[in-house]
Amino acid sequence: MPAQIIDGKKVAEEIRAEIRVKTTRLATAGVVPGLAVILVGDNPASLSYVTAKEKACGENGLKSFEHRLPADVSEAKLLELVRSCNEDPAVHGILVQLPLPAHIDESKVIAAISPGKDVDGFTPSNIGRLVLDDPLFVPCTPAGIVELIKRSGVPTDGAHAVIVGRSNIVGRPLMNLLIRRSVNATVTVCHTGTKDLARHCRDADILVPCVGRAGLITGDMVKPGACIIDVGVNQIDDPSAKRGHRLVGDVVFDEAVERAGWITPVPGGVGPMTITMLLWNTVLAAELGRGA
Ligand code: NAP
Repeated sequence: MPAQIIDGKKVAEEIRAEIRVKTTRLATAGVVPGLAVILVGDNPASLSYVTAKEKACGENGLKSFEHRLPADVSEAKLLELVRSCNEDPAVHGILVQLPLPAHIDESKVIAAISPGKDVDGFTPSNIGRLVLDDPLFVPCTPAGIVELIKRSGVPTDGAHAVIVGRSNIVGRPLMNLLIRRSVNATVTVCHTGTKDLARHCRDADILVPCVGRAGLITGDMVKPGACIIDVGVNQIDDPSAKRGHRLVGDVVFDEAVERAGWITPVPGGVGPMTITMLLWNTVLAAELGRGA
């Protein structure tokens, strides 16, 4: 029997409904969760991400504060803006859209965000808290992956989870989330130094490729009945598509769907969850009174 498709849009909408209940409750107390969205330069992909984030704020009872800076803005000016957002009581969360231009030290800018407003969960303080099993704000994509797994009823207690990829924004924080007692998986993390990737993948009850390579995970690498959360987003040529290309994940979907128990599509799987968890974190910051 083919796998159950995990519909990321549906799960994201379920969580957005919960967010709207929270923002309505906050509004009665006169609080509107505020998200400062800082974009440097005019990278089209970044621009479309921040526009989507601002739109999602408006639709779910949050207020976004747009800050567009030119690509040649100095690091000092950007740091000044981050600091002013740190002090602004109407701002509960701060998002600096990455990547930043090469002349700006990304880690310095992230570290300047107040940990109490770091709704992306990227500051050393928030990453440290996650590693120490006392999370405050968890990075949005890994947080969304855990929600997808849990809300789809995938058994996690004692499951063997295999993550392919060890980036700071996906693989590493996800590893820390999956070993928490509330999930209780046993985790293997694969990367370019891993020998025999296929063997590790075939042993996974939960397989999470977050690499960015179309076709990396083929059907024969999937354990029958496994849950596959495909994080990769890759653009491939497709002459039959309107624009001549389309998006696919890291997994050969048509093969894997025949063996897996659950699988996320690309697009429509992990993607819709990421912005939703950003809203979630911003509302949490407002609930915790971080604006003051
Ligand atoms: P990244 O920083 O480039 O990390 C990729 C990871 O994959 C690295 O750890 C790398 O290993 C590993 N890797 C590369 N080739 C491999 C191979 N052949 N075998 C095993 N491991 C391999 O990427 P990222 O930022 O984490 O993003 C990964 C993918 O997820 C991208 O396609 C991105 O677009 C997508 N993504 C989607 C969302 C969403 O919301 N849908 C959010 C974030 C990311 P080394 O460390 O050894 O180099």
